[in-house]
Amino acid sequence: MNSKIIRYLSRLQLISKRKLNAASVVPKSTIVNTPSHDRQIVTSPNTIGVIWAEKLTSIYHNVWLRDHCQCEECLHPLTKQRLVHPSNIPQDIKSTAIEQSEQGLTIHWNHPTHTSFYEWSWLHRHSYNPRLQTTLLPQKELWNYDIQHNLPTVEYQAVMNSDDGVAEWTSKIYRYGFCFVDGVPASSEETEKLLSRIAFIRTTHFGGFWNFTSNLAKADLAYTTAAIEAHTDTSYFTDPVGLQMLHLLKFDGEGGKTLLIDGFRAAQILREEDPAAYKILSTVRVPSHTVGDEDTFIQPTTPSPILGHNISTGQLEQIRWNNGHRSVADQWDNPDNVTGFYDAMRKWNEILTRKDSELWIQLQPGRPLIFDNWRTLHGRSAFSGCRQMCGGYINRDDYMSRLRLTNLGREEILKRLF
Ligand SMILES: [Zn+2]
Repeated sequence: MNSKIIRYLSRLQLISKRKLNAASVVPKSTIVNTPSHDRQIVTSPNTIGVIWAEKLTSIYHNVWLRDHCQCEECLHPLTKQRLVHPSNIPQDIKSTAIEQSEQGLTIHWNHPTHTSFYEWSWLHRHSYNPRLQTTLLPQKELWNYDIQHNLPTVEYQAVMNSDDGVAEWTSKIYRYGFCFVDGVPASSEETEKLLSRIAFIRTTHFGGFWNFTSNLAKADLAYTTAAIEAHTDTSYFTDPVGLQMLHLLKFDGEGGKTLLIDGFRAAQILREEDPAAYKILSTVRVPSHTVGDEDTFIQPTTPSPILGHNISTGQLEQIRWNNGHRSVADQWDNPDNVTGFYDAMRKWNEILTRKDSELWIQLQPGRPLIFDNWRTLHGRSAFSGCRQMCGGYINRDDYMSRLRLTNLGREEILKRLF
């Protein structure tokens, strides 16, 4: 039997063994004192509140609590899929008795009769009024060009041989927005296998895992030797690519340094120096497109702002900045923003091009770079000669899945999320 189920069953036994107090209807706004647990319960007709040791009070609606019952009749223990339909929960459902233990809170419901148990840690983690805990992820560390003295790096063998290596890799990518891998064979096949350690490679109109050679002898590739200013890739997708890997396999020429910029740091500076510009870049939706190929006409279903924020937390979560791919801007929620938008883009560009924003690196064979395309802008200087590169994209959600699984473990995630 799966250890998760064993833990689940032992918890059920724990509940059934717990002596249930004689059912007593909790009257309006009653405080149930339990000094031994250092928590208090406050009830009203339709809510139950928990006053935590830190003196914060979380209020939970009865209907929400009943909807989030975790017994196996209500939530499938393996798939974590809901088994109770909200239509079967009365809006004015009442608790008939509430009991506390060291482990958590047991609530007896009326109409229909049911008993639910919630661990204290679960209640604290999922408190929504107020929200008490927001993230299980590593802290992001903003950087400027000083990071050149301490570049985030992991070892190829560690990544290929264990999920702990992948945990370190994905964690550094999350923390810094980029990471190098040392000791990689300078071959396209081995680089593809390396990238696949995070997740399957995202196929786009550029193909799957790509190889490209620029060669001055070929006139149609001439433009690929030109400088490219800092940008994010695929800003024209509804879901821009999450990670990008670049591995320089061969280079005999001059120039062609890679530019990286911490877009989150640039955004923070913009917010401090020009809050109005920050607001405009966070709200004005920028239409974009890619239409260069005969068989490609891509535009996002809804245009997004340059600075994208998480709707729940308000935190900055995505930079979309690719000036070349901006479309005709003929849809404005507020046409008064037009001049302010151009001012804001100039200010944004001025911050991005400050010397201390820019990390310039010469890529090397055997040392691929991977970066978070939702945070780190990239570009390159002009070059001469022949440059052979390979690389690929990974979806944001697939990368985050691997990050969570390798760093926290499946059991821990399930425990914390459900
Ligand atoms: Zn239940």
